[in-house]
Amino acid sequence: MLIARVAIGDNRTYARVDTDAQRVDLLSGTPFDGIRLTGESRPLAEVRLLAPTEPSKVLVAGRNYGDVVTPDLVLFMKPSTSVVGPGSPVLLPPEAAEVRYEGELAVVVGRRCRDVPEADVDQVVFGYTCANDVTAWDIGALNGHWTKAKSFDTFCPLGPWIRSGLDPTNLALRTIVNGEIRQNGSTKEMNRGVRALVSRCSTLMTLLPGDVILTGTPAGAGVLRPGDELTVQIDGIGSLTHPVEDQRTTAQ
Ligand code: MG
Repeated sequence: MLIARVAIGDNRTYARVDTDAQRVDLLSGTPFDGIRLTGESRPLAEVRLLAPTEPSKVLVAGRNYGDVVTPDLVLFMKPSTSVVGPGSPVLLPPEAAEVRYEGELAVVVGRRCRDVPEADVDQVVFGYTCANDVTAWDIGALNGHWTKAKSFDTFCPLGPWIRSGLDPTNLALRTIVNGEIRQNGSTKEMNRGVRALVSRCSTLMTLLPGDVILTGTPAGAGVLRPGDELTVQIDGIGSLTHPVEDQRTTAQ
């Protein structure tokens, strides 16, 4: 099942997506409380897709791909205000000299939970979406200020929708910048898989419905420039595409 959040005029609502029929069936309330159809439906082309969840927090796994396996999970956070939906621009802040993209699989939590054993993680995961863990690399690398580096407004594009019932252990993940494939990996390359990540995060803090965990990025992350168009594509989910703009020229 695919679950999106959509804007129809001034209304914002969750919806079930039917990609074959190219329609969305509107939901009542949040999908985390159960799927309740309103009976209303719209053509997919007539709604604007929003970030598919409104997380209270976004947890960000660091160094979860590559040869170096850290002794414990490296974890950062992004605030809820960094989240944007498909098509919304990532704004490059004036104080950052080197802003990088990191295409990542995002886990969406479905239930309030704490201290979840790995064997029970599937019961608390609602589904998966695509993410760009946008990072002001120069700010993070200078004295390890990674929360600053990852927390600017627009630094967490999510979408296009949440796919539930998906096995996350071996999904092809590509990041495409201006039509060129820059990251071409698989979630099977994770040092800590989704179950280990969610379980460990849940021992550190209570996870709430809609919360997001970013699972790390494969090789090939690189620098974003104004005018770029970036797509994070994960098999079984879909494609998240957004433009990149210079905040100085778009802030007025
Ligand atoms: Mg990352």
